[in-house]
Amino acid sequence: METLLNFWERHILETILCMIWLLSFWYYYLNFRQRALLKRMVDVPKAVEDLMTKDIYDKARAYALHRNTFSTFQDVYSKIYSTLTLTTFAYHYFWQCSIQIAKYYGFNHENEILISAICMVFISVFSYIANLPIDIYDTFVLEEKHGFNKQTAMFFIKDEIKRFLVGQIISLPLLCGMIWIVQNGGDYFFWYLWLLSVVVSLFLMILYPEVIAPLFDKYSPLPDGELKQKIEELAASLKFPLYKLFVVEGSKRSSHSNAYLYGFYKYKRIVLFDTLIKEYCKKDSNETDKECGCETDEILAVLAHELGHWKHNHAVKGYLLCQIIIVANFVMFAKLLRYTPMYSAFGFVDTQPIMIGLYIVSAYILMPLNTVFNFVSVVISRRYEFQADRFATKLGHGEPLKAALVKLQKDNLSFPIYDKLYSCWNHSHPPMLERLEAIDKTN
Ligand SMILES: [Zn+2]
Repeated sequence: METLLNFWERHILETILCMIWLLSFWYYYLNFRQRALLKRMVDVPKAVEDLMTKDIYDKARAYALHRNTFSTFQDVYSKIYSTLTLTTFAYHYFWQCSIQIAKYYGFNHENEILISAICMVFISVFSYIANLPIDIYDTFVLEEKHGFNKQTAMFFIKDEIKRFLVGQIISLPLLCGMIWIVQNGGDYFFWYLWLLSVVVSLFLMILYPEVIAPLFDKYSPLPDGELKQKIEELAASLKFPLYKLFVVEGSKRSSHSNAYLYGFYKYKRIVLFDTLIKEYCKKDSNETDKECGCETDEILAVLAHELGHWKHNHAVKGYLLCQIIIVANFVMFAKLLRYTPMYSAFGFVDTQPIMIGLYIVSAYILMPLNTVFNFVSVVISRRYEFQADRFATKLGHGEPLKAALVKLQKDNLSFPIYDKLYSCWNHSHPPMLERLEAIDKTN
């Protein structure tokens, strides 16, 4: 045990790098399995013959192959970035630069909260710039090539600036608050940290729909008509406290489609992507003969599924599950707060900044635990999806739900066949064929 601990203390950085790359190789192996399947499946398989045309199947296959290559490349790129920042002690360098900046402007350079805030901006800008080529490729090459991108360069730039600023406005005060708590919270500061994270997340849940989301997309009330009336009837029949009903202009961004519910207590909102609704979809599509979007009964079935999530309290259960891992991260951080070898491994020999400790613990030391937790939540999420489908089916929406799933699969060009292991690890939503089969069994 002692030799193991000795080894760990002398090789913390090497061990962390090994973990990072081992996890990545597992990810590449799964990607490779799915890729091999995509390469094999040239002809439309029997199981989907009735669900999609050869033309759509070919497009979905080409899109999936492109995404598969891209996601492997993206991961290699990000792992090389992490490896370089860790082996060159970049975080230590950022920290020193932040101290110099504070000195230059005459601020108190011994104020850890201030230095951490400057350092965080540094790290964010740096990693943002490093990631930009990948984001640009994703939107303007990959999505563009397969007909999904609707963003202009100007829209993209404005969106990115807003996203960066909003991210900083939220995370900077949160970081400062956390450091203050660690400095002043005594032995049990991790409980106060957790309390802060609960308060901030609840606050963001209220703020997000009212203030943040409208900064990025246009939300307008669903106009009066058959669809609105039927949605209200469906909500009333389930005693769902429907407060507002919106259509979001997702089509300005991408032609992928979706629907979701959110809101607290009695103030629930339903949001439909315009790309989900046939009338909107037609209006926006340049190709007049292109069919997209769902009929009224299919949209209702999609909503019945979403209401199933609400009825079974899936969001609350998911939130509670998250709290377990957050507390685990904070407790572990409290244990390692003054663990010198951890800081020296990252180049911090004479200082032990709280922010850096928190980052090392949550991003690297707890990586195995967080990976396991992630897998567990993916498994749970898939169960929830089946449960919500069952709920909709029992309400009599089984057939239109199946039709909607097939249409969404087609509109989003999702490839219908997956390698079992790949799907099991990656998919928070079960593949369409499994869902159709389960709906048939319930029906
Ligand atoms: Zn769902």
